[in-house]
Amino acid sequence: MSEGAAKKEEKPRKFQAIRGTRDLLPPETTLWNHVEQTAHEVFATFGFGEIRVPIFERTDLFARAVGGETDIVSKEMYTFVDRSEKLEPDPTIGSMNVFFQKVRELYKSGEIPPEDQDEIALKLAEDQWKKVDNLLSGMSKSENAGTDIYTLVLLYDALRLGTRVSLRPEATASVCRVYIEHGMQQLPQPVKLYYMGPMFRRERPQKGRYRQFYQIGAEVLGGSDAPAIDAEVIEMVMMFFDRLELQGVQLDINSIGCRECRPKYVELLRAELLKVKDQLGPDSQRRIETNPLRVLDSKLESEQGIIAKLPRIADHLCEDCATHYSAVKHQLEMRGVIYRENWRLVRGLDYYMRTTFEITAQGLGSQNAVCGGGRYDGLVELLGGPPTKGIGFAIGEDRLILSLQESGKAPAQQGRDVYIAWMGERAHATAIRAAKDLRKAGFSVELPPVEQKFGKALGQADKLGAKYALILGDNEVSEGLWTLKTLADGSQAKYTEPDLLEHLRKQKALKL
Ligand code: ATP
Ligand code: MG
Repeated sequence: MSEGAAKKEEKPRKFQAIRGTRDLLPPETTLWNHVEQTAHEVFATFGFGEIRVPIFERTDLFARAVGGETDIVSKEMYTFVDRSEKLEPDPTIGSMNVFFQKVRELYKSGEIPPEDQDEIALKLAEDQWKKVDNLLSGMSKSENAGTDIYTLVLLYDALRLGTRVSLRPEATASVCRVYIEHGMQQLPQPVKLYYMGPMFRRERPQKGRYRQFYQIGAEVLGGSDAPAIDAEVIEMVMMFFDRLELQGVQLDINSIGCRECRPKYVELLRAELLKVKDQLGPDSQRRIETNPLRVLDSKLESEQGIIAKLPRIADHLCEDCATHYSAVKHQLEMRGVIYRENWRLVRGLDYYMRTTFEITAQGLGSQNAVCGGGRYDGLVELLGGPPTKGIGFAIGEDRLILSLQESGKAPAQQGRDVYIAWMGERAHATAIRAAKDLRKAGFSVELPPVEQKFGKALGQADKLGAKYALILGDNEVSEGLWTLKTLADGSQAKYTEPDLLEHLRKQKALKL
């Protein structure tokens, strides 16, 4: 190795956040906390309780709930095998037969949930092992011993040795699992839960779209699908946005029918789409077969004229769905919630039915949806629970924050209240005590760890955006009179210790 190359290798590697993930730093995190705190407060006034669910779950939970055909499940999930502990340690040459036997048992018992290809993979690996075993023990000879062994390694690596799990792409499936697992149908109904936290989807990163993003969501689960529940959930999100002073809020609602009426509409839509297939782009053409509803989502300029003439689901709802939909609208009006009906709002996930809604806000470009939600009666049952009605929403917190920042509604970063400029050993002891008392009283205090000249300390206080500098030198300590400098106007005054605290308290109450 040349000297240059050796040097290069020594240089420590520079790490960067993974594509699509972000570091949230102060002061921005103050805004995140403000948003989350507001959610806690508003949701609590509606009787919602916080739920925290794991960040990963079995892949088949999401596949079942979200739907195998959706983009989320078919291509956006971060999935890995969580290897069964019963297969540790790794097998050695001598224990290969025992190991394969164990894998077979675990497939059988369901400890490793069986999947289609597993048996085949196991058989291939076992056969290859037998071949290699014979080679090693000299029972047979091969020209390509290297290839045979390498093939074994590949087949071994392809074996599924544990449960397939995924980072959660959304949380509704988990909340429904929890409802079943914890027998929540025994609780007073409906059960009202909310959550906040990171979700993971392997999408193309851009403004307002990340691979790790954050959602704040809520779900109402129980026996009733009363339209007032739909309206109250929507009212709650709108109140939350209102409290945050989110700008340009637009609520769109629609009903996408139920298992009775939607399939009939979808067939009608498909038939109509086939008539105009030639005029559609390749994406929409494909969707005529896979999911005709998604064609309504199209943003392609050339397709808009055609889509406008397609049949609308509102005209094809069954009687129950039509009644439910008009009652939801009436309930929204009673609550003073302003909405726009949008017949093209269909939402991407399989589990939605009847009420669907989406909220957009300003300053977000094409990624302008800050909240999506809808009714999902039957999802709990689909996951093995009792018949249950459900409705919920998920807010994209990243986008919510972007919009608040763009419109200047982000609250200003809180600087320090007091910077303590101290000089001398005795003053240091007093400064430590003062810092403790001020912090106990709720003030944020910066106490420099080493002595510095007053001039330098005041400059530092300015840089940190402190409101006051508390100056403690030998004089102050011996007199028992402390100097407080207001940094905004440079004014100075002396206080005894109790007076100082009282003064600061008063100023804070006046928000000065
Ligand atoms: P979009 O149409 O924007 O992809 P979606 O229909 O996939 O949204 P949902 O699954 O309903 O979104 O999630 C609810 C909200 O979560 C969205 O309205 C959006 O604000 C936010 N969201 C979804 N995916 C992302 C992402 N990759 N990055 C940031 N926020 C996201
Ligand atoms: Mg999406």
